[in-house]
Amino acid sequence: MLDLPLTGVKGIGPKRAELFGQLGVFTVRDLLYRLPRDYLDYSKVTPISQLINAQSAAVQVRICGAARYYRTKGMTILSMSAQDETGKVTLKWFNQPYRSAQIKTGEIVYACGRVIRKNGVSLINPSISQGLPGIVPVYSTVQGVNQRAWRDSIMAALEQAWDRIPEPLPRTLLDRYSLVPLALALRHAHFPFSREALGLARKRLDFENTLLYFIILELQKAERLRQNGFSFDTSGVLERFLPKLGFAPTAAQLRVIGEIAEDMRRNTPMNRLLQGDVGSGKTAVAMYALCVAAANGKQGALLAPTEILAEQHFQNFRDIFGDAVALLKGSMKKAERDSALAKIADGSALFIVGTHALLSSDVRFCDLGCIVTDEQHRFGVRQRAAMLEKGVRPDMLVMSATPIPRTLALILYGDLDISVIDELPPGRMPVKTSVIPEHKRADMYRYIEKQAKEGVQSYIVCPVIEESESIDCPSVDALYAELKKTLPDIRLAKLHGRMKETEKEKVMRAFRAGELDALVTTTVIEVGVHVPNACIMAIEGAERFGLSQLHQLRGRVGRSAKQAYCFLLYGSQGEQENERMLAMTKTTDGFEIAQKDLELRGPGDFIGTRQHGDDSAGLMYGAMDVRLLEQAAAAAKELLDASGEESARLIELATERYGGMFGDIAMN
Ligand code: ADP
Ligand code: MG
Repeated sequence: MLDLPLTGVKGIGPKRAELFGQLGVFTVRDLLYRLPRDYLDYSKVTPISQLINAQSAAVQVRICGAARYYRTKGMTILSMSAQDETGKVTLKWFNQPYRSAQIKTGEIVYACGRVIRKNGVSLINPSISQGLPGIVPVYSTVQGVNQRAWRDSIMAALEQAWDRIPEPLPRTLLDRYSLVPLALALRHAHFPFSREALGLARKRLDFENTLLYFIILELQKAERLRQNGFSFDTSGVLERFLPKLGFAPTAAQLRVIGEIAEDMRRNTPMNRLLQGDVGSGKTAVAMYALCVAAANGKQGALLAPTEILAEQHFQNFRDIFGDAVALLKGSMKKAERDSALAKIADGSALFIVGTHALLSSDVRFCDLGCIVTDEQHRFGVRQRAAMLEKGVRPDMLVMSATPIPRTLALILYGDLDISVIDELPPGRMPVKTSVIPEHKRADMYRYIEKQAKEGVQSYIVCPVIEESESIDCPSVDALYAELKKTLPDIRLAKLHGRMKETEKEKVMRAFRAGELDALVTTTVIEVGVHVPNACIMAIEGAERFGLSQLHQLRGRVGRSAKQAYCFLLYGSQGEQENERMLAMTKTTDGFEIAQKDLELRGPGDFIGTRQHGDDSAGLMYGAMDVRLLEQAAAAAKELLDASGEESARLIELATERYGGMFGDIAMN
């Protein structure tokens, strides 16, 4: 039943199936496992006087005025006033004039939507109903499939599959960890009737995912320990490499280089995680590992999560190693690509830099000895596994700028040896971080303008690209349009994941060359991009990002001897939000921030199975607790030790979910 193609579901035609296909959703299973990215809690009524800015809420009101229309920024806005015994609220719909026909003056209704407290209280694009809608799921989506379509499709799939969803987990596990059956979990994860039901559903699904993930990790580990790799000769490599580097390595870099050298000399393949804060100089260490491979006549590959980043690494490598470097990325002309493929296949390229494009089956290496994965959290287990297949037991170094608390690292990366660069290159000043209240926003833009005149560049990050995705925090499009008007003198551009690769690169190159003063952008600039002259990072809707992600973003500035600043703007002022933002202003230590993130939001953000593209990756992810991870890890070990029929079935399932080659959605 779960393998049924989407077109077999009532109400899903070929057109919608194709749109779902763009999201990697092909079967009923894919659809049901695509969990909501968020939930709106409309299960109880909030009095108008208690509505909190930027939160979603349900009110029960009497419609007390007639419909009014006005136009602004090219949108038609319909507004109606309504009230309860505690106050008045304005209901506002953007570009939905037909709504007025559905609502009568004097009527008492439930209205559910996002609260804006600005010149009074409003509800934005509220849904109107005669009963409370309960807890409503919100899905990450693509153009052409709206929330309504998601809900209808999932409901139809659930109805069809209702009593025909087999239980993959052994009964004993369900009992021991108090897990609800899969069928129930799927129903309640999409349409929970209470917070408790939702919690149990997510727990069950998180457990299953994590268990399968750990099974793969355990299998990989067992496999690796069985293997003999290549034992590299490292003598003289460091002496030849250092003079080319152009700076003296820090003590931390040298220590890690030593650890890597030792791994590479051994004949078990290296499997090491390198953690180091943004700007700590991980690239130089990666270069060393690839140099060792090259010195032994073997190829080394550096896998980067975005084209911008791959380009940047490529230029760095080219400067040092010249013609022995090849670049492979998705957007390349055929001739360029063919020539790169040839260089990789015949071994004339010893250093290969690339994106996910390297995983493609027509990429054949001559003799791949070492793989470095940059920003490893951007890659799934399968992608790393796919890369390993390209060589004969190659050495593997994965790098991450998202510091992970030690307890968690041991669970998640039990199979990896861990190195840490805990020292920044000399001369860096910590970034000064402050929270900017709404009434100081204009001052901040002035400051950015003033700094631009002195040649200092800025990033302005928004969590969403288009206005329609969010009303209460600026989108890239809207902010760009507004700043174009209010700051006509600064050279401004926008940058986001939906732009063509060539356009993105053009903008990035211009920014790097100092031809632009400020970028209005999404988290595409989160990873790795290095522009020392950019000293200001303003983050809109900061509450929507995880702390570790804010930390990553902040790491884009403070890369020169000049004082850098990070400004956080945020809408909803809940207690937890305030605490998180405060944590950002208090420390620049990535590990401390990661620990705080773990305490406040659970480990969900740290787990490398994020399914979203870069533009939504910052949004809330189901938070689960560390205990659950520990339990899943223990259960995985136990199952593999037991090696019965049950384990065989779960291994098969785990391989299906995480072990295949190209199942992950492209993440750039
Ligand atoms: P990340 O760890 O974030 O990947 P990078 O490797 O990109 O950091 O390094 C950031 C910048 O710091 C680069 O411009 C790099 O050349 C420079 N850098 C790295 N190590 C040192 C060092 N020991 N001394 C001076 N500059 C360094
Ligand atoms: Mg880097």
